[in-house]
Amino acid sequence: MENNNIKHILQLSKEERRAFLDSFDTLLSDCDGVVWHFTGPIPGVDKALQLLRADGKKLAFISNNGMRTMAEYRKKFQSLGIEAQPEDIVHPALTTVRYLKSVNMQDAVYCIATEVFKDYLREAGYLVLDGPKERFPVNREANQVRVYSSYFDQHDAGPKVGAVVIDIDVNLSLANLMKAKCYLERNPDCLFIAGATDYIIPLDSSMDVIGPGYFIDILERTTGRDALVLGKPGKALAQAVRKKFQITEPKRVLFVGDMLPQDMGFGTRCGFQKLLMLSGGTSKDVLLAHDEPDELPDYYADSFADFIELYNDSVRSEE
Ligand SMILES: [Mg+2]
Repeated sequence: MENNNIKHILQLSKEERRAFLDSFDTLLSDCDGVVWHFTGPIPGVDKALQLLRADGKKLAFISNNGMRTMAEYRKKFQSLGIEAQPEDIVHPALTTVRYLKSVNMQDAVYCIATEVFKDYLREAGYLVLDGPKERFPVNREANQVRVYSSYFDQHDAGPKVGAVVIDIDVNLSLANLMKAKCYLERNPDCLFIAGATDYIIPLDSSMDVIGPGYFIDILERTTGRDALVLGKPGKALAQAVRKKFQITEPKRVLFVGDMLPQDMGFGTRCGFQKLLMLSGGTSKDVLLAHDEPDELPDYYADSFADFIELYNDSVRSEE
């Protein structure tokens, strides 16, 4: 299927440009690949966001990246001249904390994620388990069943685990996945929570990193359970976002992102208008060839800088 009907925002006529700008009151945006790259800011973002704010648009940000602290997010925004309050940034670790509080979780949490992510759980009062840190025995005895079972059974003596949480973890190992699988299988009430579900994390033009999506799939397939997804494009996150920003008219929200399944899929799930930026993890060729209708945008643009031209033009047309 070719998606040639999706319009570039600068292909819109003058009337369509103004109608497009008037069609939303809130702009919810992804961060990585849209506001900045891992290597630096995306040119024109500062000016574009200022124009949107000056036009009365409410701006907020929804990132799947739990590797950064909220303070680091704010600093990054500030360095771009953008003031973003903590309540304007949706962070997967904080969404997880809010969810665990909402279900009154009292038990320990087994966590496969970065230390930043785990610290948010610890700060919220949760006992966080991770590991195992010790290596699996490599001598001949290791082939014996009892070595396997005692290695993975160690937790039985430990505190009760009420939730398994999986997000981005570069140090993730088979032993971590086995631990998570044991907790999920032995306690049917143990919650299974996923943050970022991305399969690919685009770093820069030289490298894509394997995201947690594949490992979440492994846990889902080996346990026969579905993760509750608190990152994009999760249904549970959609509910949380609608509530957090008190969205009553989803069509008056424009969702901006660079990934088709995570960002455009999330926008569809929420009933938002969707704009794909080609400044990050998706090329125009990939967009045109993508055949999952729920993961397609309504519009696309090269980057946030296109809003500068959009505003220049629509201001001129009013004169
Ligand atoms: Mg992104």
